[in-house]
Amino acid sequence: PYDGPRSEEILRKRSEFLSPSMFHFYKKPLNIVDGKKQYLFDEDGRRYLDAFGGIATVCCGHCHPDVIEAIINQTKRLQHSTVLYLNNAIADFAEALASKMPGDLKVVFFTNSGTEANELAMMIARLYTGCHDIISLRNAYHGNAAGTMGATAQCNWKFNVVQSGVHHALNPDQYRGVFGSDGEKYAKDVEEIIDFGTSGRVAGFISEAIQIEHDFNYYMLSHNLSSILTGVGGILELAPGYLPSVYKTIKKAGGLCIADEVQSGFARIGSHFWGFEAHGVVPDIVTMAKGIGNGIPIGAVVTTPEIAHVLTRRCYFNTFGGNPVCTAAGHAVLKVLEKEKLQENALVVGSYLKDQLMALQEKHEIIGDVRGRGLMLGVELVTDRLKKTPAKTEILHVMESMKDMGVLVGKGGFYGNVFRVTPPLCFSKEDSDFFVDVMDISLSKL
Ligand code: PMP
Repeated sequence: PYDGPRSEEILRKRSEFLSPSMFHFYKKPLNIVDGKKQYLFDEDGRRYLDAFGGIATVCCGHCHPDVIEAIINQTKRLQHSTVLYLNNAIADFAEALASKMPGDLKVVFFTNSGTEANELAMMIARLYTGCHDIISLRNAYHGNAAGTMGATAQCNWKFNVVQSGVHHALNPDQYRGVFGSDGEKYAKDVEEIIDFGTSGRVAGFISEAIQIEHDFNYYMLSHNLSSILTGVGGILELAPGYLPSVYKTIKKAGGLCIADEVQSGFARIGSHFWGFEAHGVVPDIVTMAKGIGNGIPIGAVVTTPEIAHVLTRRCYFNTFGGNPVCTAAGHAVLKVLEKEKLQENALVVGSYLKDQLMALQEKHEIIGDVRGRGLMLGVELVTDRLKKTPAKTEILHVMESMKDMGVLVGKGGFYGNVFRVTPPLCFSKEDSDFFVDVMDISLSKL
């Protein structure tokens, strides 16, 4: 049992000593003290089914014993910077990661986060091509440092940084986009941006395979816990045909194609290990983070030897990016994914859950769309199916009610009206049944 400080005390300290921009879910924020597999436990020992942990960190389940063991063993042996000396943990994980990549993608640069990985990827593209212009998609999220904030394309996540050389193309959004599911039509916009907004040559193109869309409709401490802001992606799968067409256009303009796999990579979509594979393309650079360490901070950029070579023209290093402890964790995660067949599980359970959610859509008028792949699913709530009016307030009630019944789910989309269902990959069919029952009851209560 947990006998530490209670949520009120932690909240008081957080309000006084931590960033006022921190936000949290739920009117009364949860003090989560333990985690095991797909479950989380609060200060009273109450168990919650975690249908959202996958997005932040956990791909093979909370506190997986194999990952913990790898971390402990490496910590007892040595923790140090990545760059100074030889270390087998780092080299081993790089080799294992490269083996999961198609084509000539086999040189790994480790970072501490997804933001750092995308910053580095964009820098490599600019160095390699000698061009500056980068195209990203409207509604994308790629990070919150100067370069990546430029590539992120939602006003809620931007400060007044100098957004030099970034162009935001039409989002091939199959639910709200003007061309529906016709990927080729959206792809034309990239051609036009190059023709009319650049010298005709570009450094590259960056996109997620399934936009995650974080929203900003959370409770913020600085606003007396009641103010609601709005915010990223909403589990939007790029329209079919879009990426192959855009990749061709970008290559013609001399640019590199960057796949941001921070959310859609590492077996989450079930049908493939990486999100880009579902679109039948091979990027020049792949970035990843979050789930790859099962909660341990690590990110990576993987590219070809030829492209990687550009970084030898300057000094480049990252003190802790891919340090021995984090890479030991990452390697353990890869082994668990294989040992426990979690990609297959994501496919089987994800398809089962998606079918159930689509059945729920027939019952509840408020569900406008169900989408996504594997264990990366979105449920969009609208008050009018024709007008697609975002059900911004309703979703908060449903989320709160689901929490009260023991289910934690995420939320996102530009309007903050999309449930993001991204559990740890060990989620079972029984968990899906419970999840859908709880959502059904909560929607009925509206
Ligand atoms: N890319 C995507 C698709 C993301 O969802 C995020 C984080 N939400 C990032 C990049 C940035 O990762 P980090 O927060 O680890 O910097």
